[in-house]
Amino acid sequence: MTVSPFDPAQLHAFETALAERRRELTVESQRLADTNARVQSSRSDGSADGAHDAEASSLRTEWSRMSRFQGEAVEELAAIDRALQRIVDGTFGLCVHCGERIPEGRLEIKPAADLCMMCAEKVAPRRR
Ligand SMILES: [Zn+2]
Repeated sequence: MTVSPFDPAQLHAFETALAERRRELTVESQRLADTNARVQSSRSDGSADGAHDAEASSLRTEWSRMSRFQGEAVEELAAIDRALQRIVDGTFGLCVHCGERIPEGRLEIKPAADLCMMCAEKVAPRRR
């Protein structure tokens, strides 16, 4: 059975970093959800004056940019939850694909990383 290459103090540090990032993302995605709701209501109020259209159009651009970010935030939150679960399971820091250690430097930059460099290239080159 493979176990996490990190000692409890290191795991605790990663857990703290993950929890902190999770909190940031939750706050950010709540903020975006509020903005989206505002944009949605401004789109459906039926007003046809020109100034409002221009504003609605810029809001639409903003909205599509934000909904893309929102999707990424949801994905990252899920990745963070999986990483926190791996800390509980004792497999944190191991590649979920091949079982090799994920370099510590990579985890420091991206604590939710679940693939080693090689697998990340192979499995999801777009995401890295
Ligand atoms: Zn791997």
